[in-house]
Amino acid sequence: MRGMILKEFQKPLVLEETNEPEIGPNQVLVKSKSNGLCATDLKIVDGLIQTAPTPLMLGHENAGEILEVGSNVTGFNSGDRVVVVSKQTCGYCQMCRLGSEEMCLNSPGRLGIELHGGFGELVAVSERNLVKIGDNVSSSAACLIGGTLGSPLHAIRMANVQLGEHAVVFGVGGLGIHALQILRYLGANVIAVDISEEKLTTAKELGATEIINASKTNPVEAILEITNGLGADLALEIVGGSAVPIVIQQCIDLLKRGGRLLILGYHMGQKVPIDPAQLVYKWIQIIASHNHTVKDVADAASLVNDGRVKAIITDTIPIEEANDAFQILRAGDPVGRIVLEWS
Ligand SMILES: [Zn+2]
Ligand SMILES: [Zn+2]
Repeated sequence: MRGMILKEFQKPLVLEETNEPEIGPNQVLVKSKSNGLCATDLKIVDGLIQTAPTPLMLGHENAGEILEVGSNVTGFNSGDRVVVVSKQTCGYCQMCRLGSEEMCLNSPGRLGIELHGGFGELVAVSERNLVKIGDNVSSSAACLIGGTLGSPLHAIRMANVQLGEHAVVFGVGGLGIHALQILRYLGANVIAVDISEEKLTTAKELGATEIINASKTNPVEAILEITNGLGADLALEIVGGSAVPIVIQQCIDLLKRGGRLLILGYHMGQKVPIDPAQLVYKWIQIIASHNHTVKDVADAASLVNDGRVKAIITDTIPIEEANDAFQILRAGDPVGRIVLEWS
């Protein structure tokens, strides 16, 4: 089979023939169709994810079609269209047994990060890591159901969002634009904050109650005004990169008493100064999250299948041109996701 392979960090990927993976009795062989590209991929290529090895076939936001099933597999058949849930879990550790498989203590790794993922034409994956997708979902949209939708869905679940609450989304790029739609579906009033007019226009089209361009307007003052001086119930930091410390402080300033700060974006090794007195005197809760469970992905699949949430694709690019796609992503987080497709 062919694979787009990262052979050395900070070097372009190389298209090469490589060995086909073999499946165990509880696994299936998936023909990779589409891969969402995200900031994590850039971190991997740059050598910033300590656990990622080389050579590696990336592709942790992957979907495809089943080619072959192992002898013990009962829930799937060849021909099924599936989303691949990247994180492999043991199913037996204390966290898995408590139902928090995303926090598995014995995870063998994540496909596309520690293990080979959808940048290979074929992917071996355990049956428990698959979610079927409906006929309404295109294969390019399908890969966004895992990381792009499942991860914000998981975080939003942790924050226990209620109907009518004010939620502020800082950063309506790939993850944020999908977080916004989930929050809208749950009945929250969503205030989108970004510095890109293009992203804010898309946010408005997708149901943002208010949009704020932080390069022109002070978001803290604007949100206090929108909420009659009370502040927002929930603030999501999904900007990542160098803006994280400023945005986290703005989130704390604009939350109401008892508000929740949800952190999803990060920059490895970055320290954020926080005044604990401000947290204490405002009863602020801080929630941080990455990854998702198979159930999160199944629920995200159902939201996309019946159109309650739209998978936002910026561009679909043949996977052979992955290096160009990385350049586009590096030049600026686009509106929605870039999808790399195997022909
Ligand atoms: Zn990702
Ligand atoms: Zn486990």
